[in-house]
Order: sequence, then C-alpha cells, then structure tokens
Amino acid sequence: MGKFQHHSRFPKQKHVQAFRFPFVCFGCRKSFKLPVSTGSRLCPQCRRPMEMLSRKFSAPKSADIAQWKKVQFLVEHGFRFYSVYRNVESGGKQSVRYPTTLAEAKDFVVVFREQAHLPAATDLF
Ligand SMILES: [Zn+2]
Repeated sequence: MGKFQHHSRFPKQKHVQAFRFPFVCFGCRKSFKLPVSTGSRLCPQCRRPMEMLSRKFSAPKSADIAQWKKVQFLVEHGFRFYSVYRNVESGGKQSVRYPTTLAEAKDFVVVFREQAHLPAATDLF
C-alpha cells in the first residue's frame, strides 16, 4: 500500500478531461471518448469492460460488423492503433498503415507481432 495522498495532490478533473481516449465496447460496437482510467471502464450500455485505444482510432459504424471484427482481432493481438513502424531500405523507419480488412489483419499481427502492446499481467485485474 502506498502512502495516503491528500486529494488535492491528484490532477484536477478539468485537466484530466483534456485527455480523452476512445474506449470501445465490442458487444455494442460503440466507441466512447473518455478520460484515461487506470482501472477498467465498463460500457455505459451493457456494463462489459471496454478497451482503451489510441487517439488515432476512429470507430467504424456500429452496423459494420466486418470492420468491428477486424478491430477486435487487432486489439486481441495487442494492436490498439498506436503507430507501427517498418524498417526502410535507407535505414530509417516508416509508419505502417493499419489493415483495412480482417484478412489483412491476420498477416499484420504476424508481421508486426514484436510491436504489439499486450497488457502486463497486472493490468488484467
Ligand atoms: Zn457495450
């Protein structure tokens, strides 16, 4: 247990709200922009835990099941829409575009598996 900290030492609510991230619910196929949370956030509609993704993520339409399946597949493999890079011949790195279909995603997670952000075991609780 850490030392008790007076509440005034925590960031002000207004400041925290400036950093909103997309939290997605794969059950409802919806994205909610919410402040970062250390604990898991529950979907306001179905109360299931949501996944926090990069701010670069833009949600497909909720009726677009194929796109949501692709997103879920990527997230399950540790790709939360943070930048992924590949080495280029000149020696530099180039950011890679995320796959547009589930079939492409299946190759993507293999090719770039070293850049996956899988949660640490302690994040699962
Ligand atoms: Zn939901």
